[in-house]
Amino acid sequence: MNLEKLIRDVPDFPKKGIIFKDITTLLKNSDGLNYAVNLLYDFAKGKGITKVAGIESRGFILGGILASKLNAGFVPIRKPNKLPAEKISATYELEYGTDKIEIHKDAIEKGDKVLLHDDLLATGGTMEAAVKLIEELGGEVVQIGFIIELCFLNGKDKLKNYDVVSLIKYD
Ligand code: 5GP
Repeated sequence: MNLEKLIRDVPDFPKKGIIFKDITTLLKNSDGLNYAVNLLYDFAKGKGITKVAGIESRGFILGGILASKLNAGFVPIRKPNKLPAEKISATYELEYGTDKIEIHKDAIEKGDKVLLHDDLLATGGTMEAAVKLIEELGGEVVQIGFIIELCFLNGKDKLKNYDVVSLIKYD
């Protein structure tokens, strides 16, 4: 199956000059969804993963399915001020300014083996911050999985000590 064909390019979203990779066209295709989930599952299975942490919001979708298939728990990593209980946060650089993500303090236990998931790797800033959150709570990042990797932005450089897998690569 050609997953790349199921990704829609949306020009000038969210602002002029950006070509947004839209995964909703993949998600709505039952064969495509199953195929993508199973590929990521095959990468992750057999590694003793106890938690899957997904990044808001597109990382929640396959992250949740993967957690269920791996018999692991699911943990949301969210934008600021969304999580209700005690939390920690990590800040990361954007093109202009900074952004922040948060996780509940009790989401990860010491020794948890964690699969981190997001839909797309661009500069790697978001995922680097997510890794910090997991490690600050004593979790071990066993693998980092993406549907899409924009290789030309070199986001993998920020994650070079980790096992990073992605299903569709744009050079
Ligand atoms: P990074 O921090 O690696 O530069 O950006 C990755 C984050 O931005 C991910 O959470 C991802 O969902 C979002 N993102 C950036 N560009 C795109 C895009 O073209 N398509 C999608 N689906 N997400 C994007």
